[in-house]
This record gives sequence, C-alpha cells and structure tokens, in this order.
Amino acid sequence: MKKRLLTLTRYAICLVVALPCAAQDFDTPVIEKWTVTEKGRDGKEKEVGHMSIDGINVHERNPEIQPQPLIITPGAVAQPDLPTPAPSDAIILFDGTSLENWVANDGKATKWLLVDGALSPTKKSGPTRSKQVFGSCQLHVEFATPKNVIGSDQGRGNSGVWLMGQYEIQVLDSYENKTYPDGQSGAVYGRSKPLVNASRPPGEWQSFDIIFHRPKFADGKVVKRATFTILYNGVLIQDHYELSGGTGWRGPHMMSDYVPHADKGPVLLQDHGNPVLFRNIWVRELED
Ligand code: MG
Repeated sequence: MKKRLLTLTRYAICLVVALPCAAQDFDTPVIEKWTVTEKGRDGKEKEVGHMSIDGINVHERNPEIQPQPLIITPGAVAQPDLPTPAPSDAIILFDGTSLENWVANDGKATKWLLVDGALSPTKKSGPTRSKQVFGSCQLHVEFATPKNVIGSDQGRGNSGVWLMGQYEIQVLDSYENKTYPDGQSGAVYGRSKPLVNASRPPGEWQSFDIIFHRPKFADGKVVKRATFTILYNGVLIQDHYELSGGTGWRGPHMMSDYVPHADKGPVLLQDHGNPVLFRNIWVRELED
C-alpha cells in the first residue's frame, strides 16, 4: 500500500511538472508585421508591408543577421545524364516521353514543351501542373538551370516546385549566384533557407527529394502546419521544417498567410521567365 502511495505521489509530482511544458507549443514561430513608408520608383511615398519570422525579416540580406548557407559540393552521380530510376510503387508524372499528365494552371493544354526528354517552359507559357492531385507525399523531381548563364540573383534560373499548387520549393541557379538565403535554391520560399547550399553548376541535372505532409484546416484556420523534409542532390537541406505560413509573394519583405484549401492539389512547376528544364518526376502518396 505504502509503495503504491509512493508511486501515485511520484506520478502526481511528474504530472504537475510536465503539464506546463505539455501546454506550450515550442514550434510556434513569432511572426511580426508592420509597414514602412517608402518612396516608389515614381517618387511617390507608399506604405510597404514588412514581416519577420522569429526576429529575422523576410528576404533578409544582411549576413550578420541571416548568414548565407554553407556552400558544399554534393557527391558525384555515377551517370549524371541518366535519371534516377523510380521505385516500383511510384506514380510517374513525367518520364521524358509524354506531356499527357500535365496541363496549364487553368486546366487547358499545357504550353510547356517536350524537349529532348525534358519538360521545358516556353516564353510566357505560365506554370504547368499535374492533372493528378496529391496530399501528403514523397516527390522526386530533377531539374537543370540554363547552361547559358544570364542574369543574377533571383533573375538567374528561377523556377519552383509547388506542392499542392500552393507551397513553393524554390528552384534557382544558386551556384556562385548570391541572393537572399530564404530565396535560394531549396528554400521553402520566403520561409526557410536551406541548411546548406548543395547546388550543382548550371546545366547539370540536379534533384529534389521532398517528403511533404500537408496542412490541415478547421473553421478557416490552420490546425496542423505543413512539414517539409528535403534532400537536394542527396543532401539534407530541410529537416522536418514546419511551415509557418504561405509561400506567396506579397511584396519585397512580405509573405502570404495560410489560406484554407482542399485536401489534395497538383504538383506545379513555375514559369519565372527562365528556361529551367525538368525531368523524371514521380510521386509516392503518404498517409496523413
Ligand atoms: Mg521561384
């Protein structure tokens, strides 16, 4: 009896100690928003939205506040010209032979072209998206930024892989091309910079392996945030990152909020005006 009482007392003490911790959500990011009066190109003053996540401004360029990810060299691939074979249970969205699984964002025929086994945007083609829609999934996609290097910063090899047609993993030529860390290749755009810069040189095939868990919504609010784990050329660059909001551009220092959407959405490839090529795209659906 005495032993049981002791156990119960210990249990009660543990509960009292543990409860305050359990009630706290350590992953909740601190997001602040404010406006700054700035002069536009037309010389007129206007209010510009700014936003910070855990004390760091969106698209912060000051390396003392937001350091650039360490540049590393990913391991060599035995046959870089050949795509990585998909596993037997994958849904093949693009194998280099057909555009049949792809449409324009409005559901009409895609304006992207099949060029030497790759998916290629054309001038003002707009994005292309998969016909099939997905929720939580493992997504493999390979891409090559233009060998002919033109532009700099966000204007060089810019594209993007959008999960559920909503959440952008930035594609950029980040090889010897500096930009704000939360907008370089492999960033969850405007939200999370990659852990390292594992980019290959322009023109070389590169890969993303993305493990994505969709967000959940109730009563118009997000109740479970999306998560991303991403390997870039085989290197971990996002480690179960819990997405703090939307990845939509809302100004030079402002991101979109979560907006409730359906449980499934397409894989969307961005047209940002740069001829980035894509190949070997496959998906494995995951349980929520
Ligand atoms: Mg982009």
